[in-house]
Amino acid sequence: MDTIKYQLRDDQIPTSWYNIAADLPRVDPPLHPGTGQPATVDDLTGIMPKQLAEQELTLERDIEIPATVRQIYAQWRPSPLFRARRLEQALGTPARIYYKYEGGSPAGSHKPNTGIAQGFYNKEAGIRRLATETGAGQWGSSLALAGAFFGLEVKVFMVKVSYHQKPYRRALMHTYGATCVPSPSTETAAGRAILAEDPDCPGALGIATSEAIEVAMNDPFTNYAGGSVLNHVALHQTVIGQEALLQMDMADDYPDIVIGCAGGGSNLAGLTFPFLGEQLRGGKQVRVIASEPEACPTLTKGQVAYDFGDTAQLTPLLKMHTLGHSFVPPSIHAGGLRYHGIAPLVSQALQDGLMEARAVPQTACFEAGLTFARSEGIVPAPESTHAIRAAIDEALRCREEGRSEAILFGLSGHGHFDLGSYEKYMADELADEGYDEELVARSLARIPAPFGQV
Ligand SMILES: *Cc1c(COP(=O)(O)O)cnc(C)c1O
Repeated sequence: MDTIKYQLRDDQIPTSWYNIAADLPRVDPPLHPGTGQPATVDDLTGIMPKQLAEQELTLERDIEIPATVRQIYAQWRPSPLFRARRLEQALGTPARIYYKYEGGSPAGSHKPNTGIAQGFYNKEAGIRRLATETGAGQWGSSLALAGAFFGLEVKVFMVKVSYHQKPYRRALMHTYGATCVPSPSTETAAGRAILAEDPDCPGALGIATSEAIEVAMNDPFTNYAGGSVLNHVALHQTVIGQEALLQMDMADDYPDIVIGCAGGGSNLAGLTFPFLGEQLRGGKQVRVIASEPEACPTLTKGQVAYDFGDTAQLTPLLKMHTLGHSFVPPSIHAGGLRYHGIAPLVSQALQDGLMEARAVPQTACFEAGLTFARSEGIVPAPESTHAIRAAIDEALRCREEGRSEAILFGLSGHGHFDLGSYEKYMADELADEGYDEELVARSLARIPAPFGQV
């Protein structure tokens, strides 16, 4: 038996985004960094349009997707869901493995699902330019795509180590008409302060975020656009899980386990929240697994606290699992997973026992990536291999226990721009970074009081 594809019709693209905050027993609001009071829509509109600020704070369950956004989604949505029969055979497992593939978007990942939405609302609000951060370049190229579609300038601060590791992502941003500089840069006060302390700083998403927010705060026609973590970003990604629910139905099956890789938590949220919503409203139970890198173990080793989303402390305080906003993770090849915090909604789901988390080393992930590529044909992004590692481990457990469980994982993007990393892995040049306990402890100690220890 061969791999099977479950494809929906264009008119089955979801008409609304699903907001899990409506169904969670408790959500803690973002706080204004100056007053410590819950942030208001007005507090946020300095750097984002009103509709996105409202989506950030709302407890409404279903948010209508604008017709223009759905029309653009139709270029790659509904995205396919596959039953990985060839992978099942390669593993000799009785488990039924499914994956939802987001690599078919023009930028090659799930990120345009929110990039297009953010481009749309900013254009409507009369904004001319968007500033953002990017790790491996997936988000920068997704926002650059949105900039090209909506006629917006896009300025990207790219984490320096990735800027050099992933030259083709940079080239893709330029191809779409965006500008991209390595971060920390000398263009902002935040970047200059970091460089003064550490001229060889490899950069981090938290630093690049500070640079982008600073640029947005200093120009009324420039807004900030976030690629992960924020509530409205997680919200936009829920088209993934809503489609997957319909596709599992087509397959006449339902997942026992749903797995996503976790950087800032947006693709994980997008795939798993609609399933958790079913469960929270009395439907079927699922086991949800977040798979994160051992080198940046936010969910497994972080603390739950109100912390900043960026190094220079410009963002509202977000209640989340965090390694501390000053943490600079080791330079692993899954650049999109090098973030000190996590989406507050994912953090809450983990605290509520709706999710479990595990940390996996990068070589074991590349090994899983190769197994997947050789059986299913798609070369996964290094970030996505973290979900594949967890899915394969669960499938092997099923083999040992002789159980036939259904496992669904999110394949968040393709790895065509990451083949250099695959070559390094195959040449035995990749090491496991682990994480530096002392560095984490020092960074955790810098979480702001009195909000820090909750
Ligand atoms: C950015 C990225 C991630 C990590 O971001 P999340 O917000 O955690 O989803 C994962 N996979 C791919 C392919 C990415 O580009």
